[in-house]
Amino acid sequence: MSTIAALATAPFRAAIGVIRMSGPDAFSIAGQVLRYANGCLIEEGQKRNVSFARIADGDEIIDECVVCAFRGPHSYTGEDTVEFSCHGGVYLLDRVLRLLFARGARQAEGGEFTKRAFLNGKSDLTRAEGVMDLIDSEYAASARIAMSELDGTVGKVILEIRDGLLGIASKLLAYVDYPDDEIGEVSTDEIQALLENSIRSVASLCDSYCTGRILKEGVKTALCGRPNVGKSSLMNLFSGTDRSIVTEIAGTTRDTVEDTVVFGDVKLTLTDTAGIRDTDDRVEKIGVSRARKEMEKAELIFCVFSPDLTAEDEKLADEALQCQGKTVFLFNKSDLLPQNPLPKWADKAPHFSVSAKTGEGMDAVAKFVKSLFSAELSGGSAVISNGRQYQCLCRVQRALRRARENLSLTPDVIVSDLEEAIAAVGEITGETVSEQVIHEIFSRFCVGK
Ligand code: GDP
Repeated sequence: MSTIAALATAPFRAAIGVIRMSGPDAFSIAGQVLRYANGCLIEEGQKRNVSFARIADGDEIIDECVVCAFRGPHSYTGEDTVEFSCHGGVYLLDRVLRLLFARGARQAEGGEFTKRAFLNGKSDLTRAEGVMDLIDSEYAASARIAMSELDGTVGKVILEIRDGLLGIASKLLAYVDYPDDEIGEVSTDEIQALLENSIRSVASLCDSYCTGRILKEGVKTALCGRPNVGKSSLMNLFSGTDRSIVTEIAGTTRDTVEDTVVFGDVKLTLTDTAGIRDTDDRVEKIGVSRARKEMEKAELIFCVFSPDLTAEDEKLADEALQCQGKTVFLFNKSDLLPQNPLPKWADKAPHFSVSAKTGEGMDAVAKFVKSLFSAELSGGSAVISNGRQYQCLCRVQRALRRARENLSLTPDVIVSDLEEAIAAVGEITGETVSEQVIHEIFSRFCVGK
């Protein structure tokens, strides 16, 4: 194992910049560049230590820094590790790094520190992937999901599933090995009950991926409605900027306008669509057809209406309800006619009176959106948001269903299905994962992590 080093903080001018070094020569390389007035890097037998030192390039002192030393295995990577908190100058940090390289360290690859942590048994793959997801998270809900990977909530459920499967397999194997022995006695009903249990746990984790993926990538959301009902005004209210052109002239938004916003603790990838109406204008017609397509593929449809309701509005409401996405009716411009009664058909979907002008009613909409998409997060339950883990879980699910279908066959057939499921579970945690998969996962990390 070589000794690796990299800048762990962003490569910009800042108050401090952290350089991390890990590997068998980390202490000796650090010792060559650090000068102590008092104290030392780490005492013999000490697990970790924080010290204040100067960094020297030959006779020249180039910086003062706080140094954290961790003796393996008591470190993030499991190896001897030194972290230098230097002053955050771009030139300075580059110079310190080059000093370390000149004394035998090499530039760490993206994710190499976390990869070493995984290879040294400090972390399983779900936790390592949680680290990356936490760094990538842009808002509270996605950070919460990442934390549930990082703190082992996801890993724990996966291990419970694995232990359950190992339990069933060992019962069956005992029977295969000692069919006449009493210990090997095993009933199909018992195996079926245990299998059903595991299938249910896997299915619930698979189901959570829908929420997890949506919260990580954003809910595809379409703002639809007749021209002039206030779609663009709402879009601008959501995004806090003037993204869409607002005028009283019908048909201003002729194409779709997109933006990503966090609303009700949920990331929405919002699309403001052209007003849907019958038109002879060729360009507007294309916009209307795009609006319909957006509505069809949306996971959330905000149908916007204004007080001057027409038959077209009800038609649009029904059209939205036919689509696969969740539909919410927004009766806009409530500031104009606050007491305006809502039409009977309003009850066909969750609905809210709002005003894009005053912002009134939007808090209730935000609360509702949160309840639609992030309710599962509140219970601290395991939510899968990682595509790779989900693919593995689908393989577990297929193998277990096959095992259930094969219950009437000989135990060794079921054992072979179970082994396949256990191997797929092992890929999630990293126990049985190939080197290529490991390489792919960690190469997506940033350098220094
Ligand atoms: P779109 O065609 O559906 O995108 O509608 P716009 O957002 O362009 O708005 C059409 C007109 O309605 C503009 O003059 C807006 O200022 C006005 N408008 C939009 N929302 C409201 C609202 O909540 N209250 C009032 N009073 N006017 C609004």
